[in-house]
Amino acid sequence: MDKQITVTSPLLPDLDEFHDLLKDIWKSKWITNNGSFHRQLEKELADYLKVPYISLFTNGTLPLITALQALRITGEVITTPYSFVATTHALWWNGCKPVFVDVDPSTCNLDPAKIEAAITPKTTAIMPVHCYGKPCDTKGIQEVADKYGLKVIYDAAHAFGVEVNGESILTAGDMSTLSFHATKVYDTIEGGAMVMHDEKTKQRIDYLKNFGFAGEITVVAPGINSKMDEVRSAFGLLNLRQVDDAIARRREVAVKYREALKDLPGVTYFEDMPGVRHNYSYFPIFIDAEKFGRTRDQLYEDMKANNILGRRYFYPLISEFSTYRNLPSAGKENLPIANRLADTVLCLPMHHELSPSDIDRVVSVILP
Ligand SMILES: *Cc1c(COP(=O)(O)O)cnc(C)c1O
Repeated sequence: MDKQITVTSPLLPDLDEFHDLLKDIWKSKWITNNGSFHRQLEKELADYLKVPYISLFTNGTLPLITALQALRITGEVITTPYSFVATTHALWWNGCKPVFVDVDPSTCNLDPAKIEAAITPKTTAIMPVHCYGKPCDTKGIQEVADKYGLKVIYDAAHAFGVEVNGESILTAGDMSTLSFHATKVYDTIEGGAMVMHDEKTKQRIDYLKNFGFAGEITVVAPGINSKMDEVRSAFGLLNLRQVDDAIARRREVAVKYREALKDLPGVTYFEDMPGVRHNYSYFPIFIDAEKFGRTRDQLYEDMKANNILGRRYFYPLISEFSTYRNLPSAGKENLPIANRLADTVLCLPMHHELSPSDIDRVVSVILP
């Protein structure tokens, strides 16, 4: 059996360099609570991502939960069913009711033209996702939000480093959140962050991620504990130095896949969008079984039989999970496009270490 090709592979720093930073941590004995590596990583990430303020978190789910808490979001929140389940779980943890709206097939992102019909007097916010790192129609979404006085919180877990016309996608809306999980383009093993527009909000978020402590004996809100520690901050500092190379390697993989799958009946994939700096976080293909001759699940099994692990991101839809499927907006008739995408998508292996022969192996299972 050929070696296993996984859908992703974590970005890992050089072990000797990491060891040097660990020695500094051991010497200082300051291992968490806004230490020097934490502060340095916040500064370097703000520069790299071209954002005004950023707050580090221990994963990518807690900043979503905390953003909703900080903005005092209640009632109904409009969101996409075509995402990782954490997006909607964050609403559940805040006692908000998710209202699913269908997506635009050209991006897999929330379709602004369909949002208005889902707004009720209880709607307070919109929570879109830049799925696969493809930018949402942020202008279209903001227009609806402004018209109805809604907040916008972007789940930007996939959108590390994505820019539109030289500007970070992370400055759209009221807040954006990132995930630095091992499976993402940039990782700190587990980790995440929130991006905000002003210093006052950053201060409030920094309190909320530390139990609400505003001083040694002052607690201003029922915050949670979601601070990133020094070990993972150091890991993140080293990974930041190699993330551009990793994205360049991913781009080469995307170019090779597109070249190999061009003109193949029944297989579609995304091209780059004009003016966008993509991060190539995923390479989804969509299967039209009739034209392709195999269903998506048959291809998935064929790959598995060849020791190649694709992933059906995002299948099933969030709206199909037991927690959410009885919501009025979860019905398949309300979400035809998202359902079609979920039934036909397969994410091919995509990471910085795929070799040309790995890519050939993946392609040869797809080709007839
Ligand atoms: C990965 C991911 C998250 C959650 O991030 P964690 O760091 O795993 O908590 C949230 N939303 C989306 C869309 C994701 O892909």
